[in-house]
Formats: sequence, C-alpha cells, structure tokens
Amino acid sequence: MDTGIALDSVRKVYADGTVAVDALDLEVRGGEVLALVGPSGCGKSTTLRMINRLVEPSDGAIRVGGEDVTAADPVELRRGIGYVIQHVGLFPHRTVAQNVGTVPRLLKWERDRIRSRVRELLELVGLPQDTYGDRYPHELSGGERQRVGVARALAARPPVMLMDEPFGAVDPQGRRRLQGEFQALQRELGTTVVMVTHDMREAVLLADRIAVMGSGGVLQQLGTPREVTEAPANDFVADFLADFGEPRAA
Ligand code: ADP
Repeated sequence: MDTGIALDSVRKVYADGTVAVDALDLEVRGGEVLALVGPSGCGKSTTLRMINRLVEPSDGAIRVGGEDVTAADPVELRRGIGYVIQHVGLFPHRTVAQNVGTVPRLLKWERDRIRSRVRELLELVGLPQDTYGDRYPHELSGGERQRVGVARALAARPPVMLMDEPFGAVDPQGRRRLQGEFQALQRELGTTVVMVTHDMREAVLLADRIAVMGSGGVLQQLGTPREVTEAPANDFVADFLADFGEPRAA
C-alpha cells in the first residue's frame, strides 16, 4: 500500500493576508520519518495541518497514499492519520484506557481487540494498564499525558502520523525515553511520519530526512540529517544549525 505523502506547489495565505507557506514541493516516502524544522512562524504547523485538512491550502495539491486530500471526507481522512500535538487534547472525562481506545472504537473494532491493543500500547509507552488505565488525564503529569497522546495516535496503527512538537512538553529524561519508544514503534509499524520540531537535535536523531523551512514558509533545504548538517544549502540553514551548536548526524 502506498502511504507516501506528496505536496505539490502548495501555498497557504491566511485571511489576514499572511503567507504562511509558499511554493512548497515535498515528497514524503512511505515509511519515512520527515522532520520539518525552522524558526517559529515559518509555516511548519500550517504545513502539517494542511495534510489532514485542519487547514485548507489556498493553492496546490496534497496527496496521501496517492489520493487527493481535498477530495476525501475530512472525518475519514483524519481517522486514517494519527495526529499528536504538544498540548495533547485528551478527553478529560474519559480514562486513559478510554482515550487510547478512541479511534479503534470509532472504527468499530471488537471489544476484546480494543482492550488488548490498549493494554499493549500503554505497556509500550511505559504506562502499564493496571496502574494507569483507569486514571483520568488530570491525574497524570504533563509528560504522562503526552505519552497517552502518542499511544492514542498509534492505537489503530495509522499508516500516516503527523506530529507537532510531540515531545515538547516532556522533561528531558522522559523525552529521550519517549523518543526511543517512538522510534522503535515507528520502525516496527513502518508508519510514514511528518514531525514538526524546532529542535534540530531531535530532527537529527529521529528523521530520515529533514526539511528546513524559512520565513514566509519557503523550503530552504531538504536532505538527510548528514546532508543538512554537513552541507547547509545557504546561510539561513547554516545560521539555524549554528543556534544548535551544529548537531552532528550519527
Ligand atoms: P510554525 O509552526 O513554523 O511556528 P505556523 O504555521 O504556526 O508556523 O505559522 C506560520 C505563519 O502563519 C505565522 O506568521 C503565523 O503567525 C501565521 N498564522 C498561523 N495561523 C494563522 C491563522 N489562523 N491566521 C492568520 N495567520 C496565521
């Protein structure tokens, strides 16, 4: 199955005239982790949110798995695309287990299958069902809530995941652990991932390729972590890297 994503001459102008993304061509291969990096306000989140149609592009075409997203039913589309954001919107009146089981329930999986999938995922993100399953979001730390968000997004094994600063609210130690867990899961499932981060180190650690965006939502460079860190395409990319002490690709 084709799980790649293609953006073709995509542009987004918000109602107030702000050009958030311009002339963006981007191809994300099936099973690839692509990181969108760049300074605040350069159109990373807008790009991500156009892929699952939380934001409508002003121009250009976006295809997921070969299908034009503007032709898809947005609700169906979003069920097939996991989405994780920094301040994850867990359902406050549902338990951790219910939160994680949300999409499988919408997809009408059988009860036993949902239960075992939820148990498996909570185990994977380090929040065992027996301790955490019946808690409510307000009974968790910020980092724990974030892990529930990741588990919820992965529950139905979506072929495509969009992640916007997914580990941003997690303390440094928890962050490293969650990054490792995410990487193992992504490799196991072969999920296609587009991840927004302002942290170049995170991008170098997790991404197969990095897209560096600049002001006005213009793509500055697209390449492997090694290519971007060893051969910045221009001064903008070099300066952006310098702010992170020039992270090295492994
Ligand atoms: P990033 O994720 O890189 O920080 P965003 O995609 O959030 O960037 O924003 C890109 C630009 O679009 C910024 O100038 C931001 O202020 C602007 N923007 C984002 N959302 C809206 C909106 N709903 N209406 C108007 N401008 C917006």
